[in-house]
Amino acid sequence: MVDAVAAQVRGTRFETGWGELAPRVAAALREVPRHAFVPAAARGDAYENRPLPIGYGQTISQPYIVAIMTELLDPEPGDVVFELGTGSGYQAAVLSRLVREVYTIEIVEPLGKRSRATLDGLGYRNVKSKVGDGYDGWPEAGPFDAIIVTAAADHVPPPLVAQLKPGGRMIIPVGGPFMTQYLTLVDKDAEGRVHARQILPVRFVPLTRKR
Ligand code: SAH
Repeated sequence: MVDAVAAQVRGTRFETGWGELAPRVAAALREVPRHAFVPAAARGDAYENRPLPIGYGQTISQPYIVAIMTELLDPEPGDVVFELGTGSGYQAAVLSRLVREVYTIEIVEPLGKRSRATLDGLGYRNVKSKVGDGYDGWPEAGPFDAIIVTAAADHVPPPLVAQLKPGGRMIIPVGGPFMTQYLTLVDKDAEGRVHARQILPVRFVPLTRKR
């Protein structure tokens, strides 16, 4: 799986400006057992470089996408990261190998519960999770060094921009359900000015709101 991800990273170097799978990201991908995050029926495909269904109409992201989003966040060992969209918990687990703490929110309750059980079973204690609407971020835990959004939004949620530290970065797929979504890198400079750059066309499940 990691070899396939590395090959795809090389193949998309002109779009992403990033041609080699970083050793630390490769190590995290090797360490986290992806099969533990997918339902039994999909387990045989767990180490294929593709997204897989996890129930409730949701998916675990393709490992290449996990790798590229992780790399674009430029995670440092002391960082505290927020994730919107826990899903299976896989992306949070990968990040947890590279940073100090991950705070993650899932809106679909059974998925939030299942991912918590998976993360606990594997001993990923630096991942804090809860069920709720991640659009509002996690103000008590922020501000964050980095933010990762794993559901597509038609705009960058202002509460998440507010919870990003100066010098911090956010990676988020932006685009409506019937439009091309772009993985977008948002960064906040030391003066608090925000810049956004489109990286790659992608397809994510939509960000939903609490009804
Ligand atoms: N990071 C996940 C990918 C899950 S797909 C993984 O590694 O498996 C995106 C997830 O975002 C879905 O589970 C979906 O239910 C969730 N989601 C969508 N809108 C949300 C919101 N407003 N707040 C929190 N989670 C949300």
